[in-house]
Amino acid sequence: MTVELQIACSFCSKPSTEVEKIVAGPGVYICNECVALAATVIEQSGETSTPPRVPIWESLSDEEMLSHIPRVGVHINYAETELRSWVQELRRRGVTWTRIGEALGITRQSAWERFSGEE
Ligand SMILES: [Zn+2]
Repeated sequence: MTVELQIACSFCSKPSTEVEKIVAGPGVYICNECVALAATVIEQSGETSTPPRVPIWESLSDEEMLSHIPRVGVHINYAETELRSWVQELRRRGVTWTRIGEALGITRQSAWERFSGEE
């Protein structure tokens, strides 16, 4: 199954065409509506051991959760694509594979194999 990388909010899954604004983060996107909801959740949440979640699971039906999970999976691809962009920029700046590997907690060889696109 190929997953199309259409830009959509990582939180509510609405595509960029259905919201006013979308802001890009490292491998994630957030829409103006979720920024507002998150601000409310932050205001209302007290001290918790786990961060408050948007969308709020308790507000979703089983069907809504089921329709959301494939979209969560799409973000694995977003994150991978974003990570590649960051590494490509570091390489463009002349940063060595050794330093990139160290930053990612992998060997120079693993970093090269994963990101260089060379055989
Ligand atoms: Zn959203």
